[in-house]
Amino acid sequence: MASLSLRFTLLLTALLPLTFTGVGGVALPRAPADVYDYIVVGGGAAGSIVASRLSENSSVSVLLIEGGPSNEGVTNAIIPYIYPRLYRSTYDWNFTTVAQPGLNGRATAYLRGHILGGSSSINGMTLNRAPAADWDQIASFTGDSSFSWNNIVQYIQKNEAFKRPEGSRFDNAYDPAVHGREGPIGNSLVEDDTWITEPTLTGAEEVGIPHIRDVNGGQPLGISWQQFAVKDGARSSAATGYINEQDRARSNLHVLLNSKVSKVLPGPGGTTDSAPLHFTTVEYTDGNGNTQTAVASREIIISTGVMATPGLLMRSGLGPRAQLQAAGITTLLDIPAVGQYLQDRCGISAIWSVNNTDTDDTIDRNSTYFNELLQEWNDHRTGRLTQTGYRHMIWARVPEDAPILSTIDDPSSGPTCPHYEIYPANKWAGTSPRPATGNFVTMSIFVSASNVRGSVTLDTSNQMNPIIDPKYLQSDWDMYVMRTAVRRAAEYMNAPAWRRWNATPVFDPSILDDDSALDQWIHTNAFGGVHAVGSARMGPPNSPPGTDVVGPDFRVKGVRGLRIVDTSVFPFVMNAHTMGPTYIMAEKAADLIRRGL
Ligand SMILES: Cc1cc2nc3c(=O)[nH]c(=O)nc-3n(C[C@H](O)[C@H](O)[C@H](O)COP(=O)(O)OP(=O)(O)OC[C@H]3O[C@@H](n4cnc5c(N)ncnc54)[C@H](O)[C@@H]3O)c2cc1C
Repeated sequence: MASLSLRFTLLLTALLPLTFTGVGGVALPRAPADVYDYIVVGGGAAGSIVASRLSENSSVSVLLIEGGPSNEGVTNAIIPYIYPRLYRSTYDWNFTTVAQPGLNGRATAYLRGHILGGSSSINGMTLNRAPAADWDQIASFTGDSSFSWNNIVQYIQKNEAFKRPEGSRFDNAYDPAVHGREGPIGNSLVEDDTWITEPTLTGAEEVGIPHIRDVNGGQPLGISWQQFAVKDGARSSAATGYINEQDRARSNLHVLLNSKVSKVLPGPGGTTDSAPLHFTTVEYTDGNGNTQTAVASREIIISTGVMATPGLLMRSGLGPRAQLQAAGITTLLDIPAVGQYLQDRCGISAIWSVNNTDTDDTIDRNSTYFNELLQEWNDHRTGRLTQTGYRHMIWARVPEDAPILSTIDDPSSGPTCPHYEIYPANKWAGTSPRPATGNFVTMSIFVSASNVRGSVTLDTSNQMNPIIDPKYLQSDWDMYVMRTAVRRAAEYMNAPAWRRWNATPVFDPSILDDDSALDQWIHTNAFGGVHAVGSARMGPPNSPPGTDVVGPDFRVKGVRGLRIVDTSVFPFVMNAHTMGPTYIMAEKAADLIRRGL
C-alpha cells in the first residue's frame, strides 16, 4: 500500500501547484498528504462493506477512515450475550436526543458504534432484511426498479453465510431457498432447547398469530424464529466479515483508525457558480490530534451513519443555508433536505413475571453461573453466552378495520407490511433495574411504520455533536400503534401456554382498559430506538433541487465526487432492524461504484 499511495502522492504533487485558493472562502490543503482512488469515511456497517468490496479490485487504492478504535480483542463486542455492556462506553458515540415531548419530556441516549464495524460491532445482532414491499416501495419512491425486492435478493445472497440449524424441530424454522451460503456475515438461529420456545410458539398459535417460516423471506407478518449475525458462537459484524485481518492484508486497502473526519472539500477546478463542485479532499483529525488531509482521485464515499452524516455534510458547506449561516459556515450548496426526514422506531418493554426458574435473569444475577458460562464459551464457543436472550419475533398490523385507517393514510408499504413488532426476551429486559429476585419474560415492543419525521441539526457550540430530535410518539398514529401493540402483547401473554408458567404482568394491567392511563404509561416508559434512517434521504433523479440529498446512484445531487452510503439514505424507516437493509444497500452501492455507474 505504502508504495502505491506514495506513487499517487508523487504524481499528484507533480500535477498540482503546492498551494491553491479555495472556492467559496474554503481553505484548501497546501499539499495533499495522501492520494487514493476512493476514500470511504466511516468504517461502520455500510462503510466497511464499500471499502472491502472496492478493494477487491487490486488495481484501485482505497482509504477507509474510521473515527473509533479497532474491534479486535473487545470482548464485549465478541461474546453475543454481553453486548449491552458496550452501551454508553468508549465504543459508543454517546449521543443524546433533545427532550422528547412524547417521552414526557425525557431526553434519551442515542447509541451509535464508535469502533471499527460501527453499530454492527455493538448492536443486538438481529438480522432482518425488511419486507419485500418495503424494498418495492423504495423502488417506487426513487423511480428505480433496481431497488425492488426481486433485484436486491442477489445482495442478500452475497452478504450472508446462513448456517442451517440442526434437528427436526427446526424443519419449519427457516427457508433455505432465501439464504446465501458464502457471504462474509454469519447468520444463525439460537439452537438451544430452552423452555421459552414452547410457550412462545404455542401461545402465538393460541391467539391467532400465524407462524412464518422465514422472517427474511420477504413477508414477515406473523411469528418467526429470529436470525442473528452470530458465527461460531461469536458476533459476526461488518468488521469481522469485511475488514478482518485477511482483508486488511490487501496492499491496496489502507485502514485508518481513531481518525475523525471534520469535513470534505472541493478540489481545484470546482467553482461555486458554474460547473458542479467536485469534492476531492477529506480533512480529519488523526489519533494524535493533528489535522491531516487525504485526496480521492475518483470519489469520496460518506458512510458515517444516520446521525453523523448530516453534520459532516453541513460542516462541508452542504446543507440548509439558514442553518449553515447560523453556524458561520459558508454555504457551497443549499440542500434543505440535509438532516430532515429523520425517522425511527421507538419502543417499550412490557414485563411479566413467570414461575420458570430457567430464565436468563440468573445469568445476570449469579456471577458464579456467569463465570461457568464464560468458561464454556472460552473453551468451546458454545452455551448461553452465544445468544442474546431473544429468539423469536412477531410482526403485526393494526386491524384492517381500525377506524384510524379511515382518517390517516397508512404509512406502511401496504397490507403485507407490519405496523409494529413484538419480540420476547427470556429475562427482565426493561429500562428500570431488575428486581433482586424472580424470573421474568419481556415483550420488547416497537412501533414500526411511523408517520413522524424528526431531524438532525448542527450544534453550533460543538459541530461534531448532532442535535437529534426524532419526535418520538408525536403523532396520533404512532400512539395508536403503540397502544394496539401493547394490548396485543398482553393478549398474547394471557394465552394458556403462558398461563401455565403463571405469567403475571409487573405493570398494573388495568391500564390496558383505559386509553388515557395506557398513554400515560407509554409516555413514561417508552424509550428511543436505534433504527433511524432518512437524514440524507435518497430520492428520484429529477426531484426538485434540495428535496432529497442523493439520487438512486447514491451520488450527492448537485456536486461531483461525493456519494453517501449508509442508513441516512433510506427514504423511510424500514420494517426491520436496520443492519440487514444497510448491508444490502452497501453491497448494492459497491456494485454500482465498481461498475462505474
Ligand atoms: C445499540 C444498537 C443496537 C442495535 N441493534 C440492532 C440489531 O439487533 N439488528 C439490526 O439490524 N440493527 C441494529 N441496530 C442498528 C444497526 O446497527 C444500524 O442501523 C447500522 O449499523 C447502521 O449502519 P451505518 O453504516 O449507517 O452506521 P454505523 O454502523 O453506525 O457506522 C458509522 C461509522 O462511522 C463512524 N464515524 C462517524 N462519524 C465519523 C467521523 N466524523 N469520522 C470518521 N468516522 C466516523 C462511526 O464510528 C461508525 O463506525 C442497532 C444499533 C445500535 C446502536
